[in-house]
Amino acid sequence: MISKRIQEVEPSRTVELTNRIAAMRREGIPVIGLNVGEPDFDTPAHIRRAAKEAIEEGFTRYTPVMGVPEIREAIASKLMRENHVEYAPDEITLGPGAKQCIYAALLALCDPGDEVIIPCPCWVSYTEMVRMAGGVPVAVRTAEDFSLDLAHIERAVTGRTKAVIINTPNNPTGAVYSKESLEELALLAQKHDFYVLSDEVYECMVYEGRTHVSVSALSRDARRRTVLINSFSKTYAMTGWRLGYLAADREVVQAVNVVQSQMVSSVNSISQKAGIAALQGSQDCVREMASEYDRRRLFLHERLNRIEGIRCQSGEGAFYLLPDVTDYLGRTYNGKRIADDLALAEFLLEKARVAVVPGSAFLAPGHLRITYAASVETLERAADAMEAALRLLEKKEKKV
Ligand code: PMP
Ligand code: GLU
Repeated sequence: MISKRIQEVEPSRTVELTNRIAAMRREGIPVIGLNVGEPDFDTPAHIRRAAKEAIEEGFTRYTPVMGVPEIREAIASKLMRENHVEYAPDEITLGPGAKQCIYAALLALCDPGDEVIIPCPCWVSYTEMVRMAGGVPVAVRTAEDFSLDLAHIERAVTGRTKAVIINTPNNPTGAVYSKESLEELALLAQKHDFYVLSDEVYECMVYEGRTHVSVSALSRDARRRTVLINSFSKTYAMTGWRLGYLAADREVVQAVNVVQSQMVSSVNSISQKAGIAALQGSQDCVREMASEYDRRRLFLHERLNRIEGIRCQSGEGAFYLLPDVTDYLGRTYNGKRIADDLALAEFLLEKARVAVVPGSAFLAPGHLRITYAASVETLERAADAMEAALRLLEKKEKKV
């Protein structure tokens, strides 16, 4: 019998859909996948080279649990240089991806029944990882423009609140939290004594003149309460290398290292060498990829808003748009009613052969999440196909 704990956890909708598309493609059905958020670029050549050298040199054994000193020193320099916050190398630890780092942090911090506040829409995995760690996810709405609603957050705080998870730039909304809102959040954390898990994996993708701010850099107290999480996946197009990290107060890092020592042993040694090359090499590749995402964002935003009935904010960061599709809900196709965003995403997969994720997976019902980590040509084909399919849906009858 499978544990109740796992029976109550939803599988990741973003990841699950990828398997489904792979199966459709194996059957010869062409599908445009705009579901999974991952860079479509190859890992830059100098990073790949460092990994090859690591293999040739026989750097293929376990490393210390928290990672080799060289990568933690490189991360500490990066955090100082780019995020303006000081961490010693022993206040940094690695995990196979930011995803596992977040889970390890939750395991280290949550007692059974502890509450973790999650501004939503939110990434699919936060609520489920909190549940797996024995905590209770508490979803609170963001404002209309997807910025943090501090009043909502404060109202959700109870004596059991252990942490708030924030993600800026945000998946799935594309919001970038302002310095002012993060300052307010840091003050709330101090007032009510909770941690802030700050997921910054999209930090390099900011547009419209916005800048990314790390909450940890805002004050000494904020630094003490923040668990800063980042990854090589998005910044350097390294999703498959599984390399993420966490920086926090020494006490938290030591607890996370206990989890990692029992759960991971150490992160892939070859990926660590690649990560050092990524951090120490030129950052031009990062800027080039970000400017290409921006071009795609502008294209897709404009194209989606041209589709009748779709309303879409432009997003300021990451590589997602979250169009509001409520106008299409309740419409019918061949007598069958498209009741919600799940049914609409299914319809688009069947009819347009375009895979997008239903907003409900991100606690954003009535929306679809679309990634623009794909070429403009692909985005154009996808938008054309979606528009044509949506035209097939018959309007709800107007009540007189
Ligand atoms: N946080 C967010 C918001 C994400 O979208 C993702 C998905 N890539 C991750 C964390 C995990 O990234 P990874 O485990 O590949 O570092
Ligand atoms: N984070 C990406 C997404 O939201 C990758 C898949 C996942 O880990 O959820 O699509």
